[in-house]
Amino acid sequence: METLRAIRDPAGGGDIVALGMVSGIVVRGGNVGFTIEVDPARGPALEPLRKAAEEAVRKLPGVLSVTAVLTAHRAPVPETPRRPAGPAYLPGVTSVIAVASGKGGVGKSTTAVNLALALAAGGRAVGILDADIFGPSLPTMMGIRRRPASPDGKKIIPIDQHGLRCMSIGFMVPEETPMIWRGPMVMGALEQMLRDVEWGTLDVLVVDMPPGTGDAQLTLSQRVPLAGAVIVSTPQDLALIDARRGLNMFRKVDVPVLGIIENMSYFICPHCGGRSDIFTHGGARKEAERLGVEFLGEIPLDMAIRETADGGTPIVIAAPDSPQAKAYAAIAERIGARLAADGGRAAPRIVVQ
Ligand code: ADP
Repeated sequence: METLRAIRDPAGGGDIVALGMVSGIVVRGGNVGFTIEVDPARGPALEPLRKAAEEAVRKLPGVLSVTAVLTAHRAPVPETPRRPAGPAYLPGVTSVIAVASGKGGVGKSTTAVNLALALAAGGRAVGILDADIFGPSLPTMMGIRRRPASPDGKKIIPIDQHGLRCMSIGFMVPEETPMIWRGPMVMGALEQMLRDVEWGTLDVLVVDMPPGTGDAQLTLSQRVPLAGAVIVSTPQDLALIDARRGLNMFRKVDVPVLGIIENMSYFICPHCGGRSDIFTHGGARKEAERLGVEFLGEIPLDMAIRETADGGTPIVIAAPDSPQAKAYAAIAERIGARLAADGGRAAPRIVVQ
């Protein structure tokens, strides 16, 4: 950001940082990406500005590659509180819930998919959007190997699998492609998946959020009827600190947190049936109490959960009567009840800090 302050908008008014034009900064190792938001009419004329911004960042020590992308979809976010201005996407969707975690690898995607399937098993029309643009896992977990259709070349039809309407950026790019974002960056891609996918009428859309970055949370909270967020955490302290970060990100954009799920909570030995609390146990419950959010339940660290998720038929489908599937079902029903009580949509009061 400091470096980009040297880049001035040729139209005047100051530098591109002060003008609120820079967003979506992503740093992966030495690879840096960001977006510069511009008035659509000025897009083509601002190519030199884009190049200059890339050039400036490329000179920073440790930077290997830089991708700056001009986006032209919204006015810069002002630094004062405001109401959401953008279009409300997803007119046919009653409730959107975001599944998030403070860091990767805690089982957020596995939990999101099984919860979505459990919500659907409860008789709801459910969609799942894999917004984890850096490591989309929905194609693997749902066993989807085909690309979605787009009969009119504009709207994308989500893929129906195991009774869920599914969409993932992973459907569009080959699996081995490293997800270093060129083209539309994270926010653009997320917006596009909300805007250009023909979700139809859904009771619930579950969004598997990218880890970290407050930007995705902000985009989502501004553009869709976000009923709330569910935070997935493992019992370890470190993960809990990260869960707190995830929670704060939603609180910042005034999205209600529906609760915390403790994943990999305990281990039942498949040989002797004995229980081990590998990462200690109950931390998330205590932490939820302390933070004043609901504790939604715990999911064991379980071989069948991993095998079925990684094999394309998650446990809720593969073994609907198993205790593991029932654990997901119980959490899904708690969430379902909460959505019904809230009428699905939370009041859209957004405070940008
Ligand atoms: P994240 O989305 O947080 O990065 P994933 O859902 O991709 O995490 O899970 C990471 C790995 O852990 C996957 O191989 C998944 O199958 C496995 N996993 C997730 N939850 C469990 C669980 N409760 N028991 C066993 N393995 C799990």
